[in-house]
Amino acid sequence: MTSIRSIKGTQDILPGQSQRWQALETTIRNIMDTYGYSEIRTPAFERTELFSRGVGTETDIVSKEMYSWTDQGGENLTLKPELTAPVVRSFIQHNLGGQSPMNKLYYIDALFRRERPQKGRYRQFHQFGIEAFGSEHPEIDAEVIALAMTVFNNIGLEGLTLKLNSIGSPECRSDYRNALRDFLKPHFSDLSETSQKRFENNPLRILDTKVPHEIEILKDAPQISDSWTAEDKTHFEEVCSFLDEMGIQYSIEPNLVRGLDYYTRTTFEITSTALGAQNAICGGGRYDGLVEMLGGKPTPGIGFAAGMERILLALGNVETNSKTTQVYIVGLGDAVRPTVVKLAEDLRHNNIRTQLDVLRRSMKAQMRDANKSSATIAVIIGDKELKSGLAEIKDLKTGDQEPVKIKGLVDHINSLTL
Ligand code: AMP
Repeated sequence: MTSIRSIKGTQDILPGQSQRWQALETTIRNIMDTYGYSEIRTPAFERTELFSRGVGTETDIVSKEMYSWTDQGGENLTLKPELTAPVVRSFIQHNLGGQSPMNKLYYIDALFRRERPQKGRYRQFHQFGIEAFGSEHPEIDAEVIALAMTVFNNIGLEGLTLKLNSIGSPECRSDYRNALRDFLKPHFSDLSETSQKRFENNPLRILDTKVPHEIEILKDAPQISDSWTAEDKTHFEEVCSFLDEMGIQYSIEPNLVRGLDYYTRTTFEITSTALGAQNAICGGGRYDGLVEMLGGKPTPGIGFAAGMERILLALGNVETNSKTTQVYIVGLGDAVRPTVVKLAEDLRHNNIRTQLDVLRRSMKAQMRDANKSSATIAVIIGDKELKSGLAEIKDLKTGDQEPVKIKGLVDHINSLTL
């Protein structure tokens, strides 16, 4: 029979790799604690409507990439393709805003998008991220960015660029949309079909183009900063000055925009030179209009999401072995089996990391395995030891061996530095 393989764009995380994930997750959780963010976990699937409203029907995610289905009860459901909308849904549903004026939430989760798989782009992938609700002030923008940079610096990512911009308030954007249309009108026939479509409903997205001659045309385009209100300008300047104060370098990218109306002011992206075509590690920004748009009380919010597969790719694919065993029990013969099974259990209940041979191997094979493991000592019990009531404890570094009473083994091993 042919074996069943995993689905294209999904990955198994095997032992050896899973330790790298755990280490990354531990760093993230520790840093979240330091900055005062609490974890939120939301379901793997939601109503499709949450994403069409919360992400926008004209985005690639909603228009082409969602795993959606109608369930047996006729409900339209979707595996979550992003996390801001589910977190906002939960924030509103549980009235978190009513309980505290400021809510700082973080997540580590799996997402699903039907993208064309390639290195750094998968159909199931993982993100960690934060959403901070309640403050419109630039200090939270700076904190959110600083937190992301702290995680990346802490895990040793190099070659990072922080790109920063402000897309202003909604009034500023409608002004800018008109200015951009006026500028692009004479070039309309030179634009690609995609950009021509975006021209009417979402001209800001034309700034995302990868088409070289469009990039050329856009060089002389008006910039969104020309349309900022005085408050937008002050907000952005303050974000920059707080980053300067913290010693965080950034580059201002006038074309870093987001097309949807509920995005406001700060946008940022972090890229790494350690990655190829898919070089974005983290994207974030303000969304002061989103909570209201999803049915909540108007609440400012800002967050980011960072791709964990890409972080691990950028760090380089070093395998780590789990080297955690402290005691290896070598048992020989049928008669000793109950003794060694019980001994292993007792040691484990004393928080001693213990391995027991369960393949009924020869003494030589078990000792080879013990030496290969990270164990400090081997406990050897055969028929002879069982009869005398004395196990042999072998120091796996020095090779020294000493007899110890089987009855007092747990206490004895507990008193050793392993
Ligand atoms: P987004 O939610 O699209 O703003 O993406 C945020 C981050 O998630 C990106 O910067 C990437 O690091 C990561 N990411 C997005 N899509 C994928 C994907 N298909 N596979 C792996 N990582 C992804």
